[in-house]
Amino acid sequence: MLALAGIPLGLDFVFLDPSPSAPARAVGRHIVAAYDDEAALADLAAAASVVTYEFENVPGRVAERLAATHPVWPPPTALAVAQDRLEEKRLFERLGIPTASHVAVASGEEARAAAGRIPGPALLKTRRLGYDGKGQARVEGPGDAADAFAALGGRACLIETLVPFSREVSVIAARSPAGEVAVYPLAENLHVGGILRRSRAPAAAGGAVDPARRAEAYARAILQDLGYVGVLAVEFFEVEGDLFANELAPRVHNSGHWTIEGAETSQFENHVRAVAGLPLGAATARGHSLMLNVIGTSPDAARVLAVPGAHLHLYGKAERPGRKLGHVTVRSDDPGALEDAERRLAFLLPPREEEAR
Ligand code: AMP
Repeated sequence: MLALAGIPLGLDFVFLDPSPSAPARAVGRHIVAAYDDEAALADLAAAASVVTYEFENVPGRVAERLAATHPVWPPPTALAVAQDRLEEKRLFERLGIPTASHVAVASGEEARAAAGRIPGPALLKTRRLGYDGKGQARVEGPGDAADAFAALGGRACLIETLVPFSREVSVIAARSPAGEVAVYPLAENLHVGGILRRSRAPAAAGGAVDPARRAEAYARAILQDLGYVGVLAVEFFEVEGDLFANELAPRVHNSGHWTIEGAETSQFENHVRAVAGLPLGAATARGHSLMLNVIGTSPDAARVLAVPGAHLHLYGKAERPGRKLGHVTVRSDDPGALEDAERRLAFLLPPREEEAR
């Protein structure tokens, strides 16, 4: 999607991805190799004038190595923060951004003791390599904390309070090397089983507190602090108008996929513009947008496109339960039309949920 946005700007793309079937192979030269393969990195470096990434589990040392000779955006420091939930929390706290109270734990015994100090149920999360709800377990109390720690592989973890949120929201913002910033309207996100199912944007206004303004201020503070270039996403829990930061993503984000049709400039185009040192485009919404993820099985394209206003984006990935294979966006000036579209697109839900409806 980055290349689809950047090719019309006159740019060429070269990709490094270990999977021979990586979706990007359709839109540029694809180097099939491990992220830390020296020859592949030399090939990439020779071909590229600027390097970016859209996956935060790229090894940090690879970003650092490329940064010795090339601009690497977002900066490797942002990657390092996003790769470790504890570093993320430290950044939020340093910038005065509320986040769930938490304790770092490195053993089953520490997990048990920490669970005893956290009132009520908690979440145990691995510090590294967690995504889409993977690498985390709910803990009811000290009694099951050590077992949960072992079940997560005995790796360094955080244990954090379960936030009783009324909704989940995210903000996406882009920053250019010149310090220009573009902030997208807040998106409201529904996760099922830890996986993003649906985003709506702009999110409905909050009550007395304006969550969109607050989220924008937090995003600007992070961009500034990290000397950031590119697109950044920050996910929040909303509790009675207050926002608690959950995590950040140093890349274009699933909750911003609606911007392809729903914003003046998509998050993909603004990311490419930022890393290429081009002026940013406006991040204003074009009406209201609904984005539904295609998860596990590919739908019949004709059935999706028969829904008025629906746009289909398939990534060319093989089907697998729980895997994000694409998304569908509907944009309208009338929010009521989006509710109707969502009902008509209910067949996109994974089969078990469809039966349960
Ligand atoms: P994460 O991997 O941290 O993005 O978590 C995936 C999803 O799990 C989130 O989008 C929430 O729906 C849920 N979740 C994660 N952390 C918490 C928390 N501290 N309290 C409540 N729900 C959470």
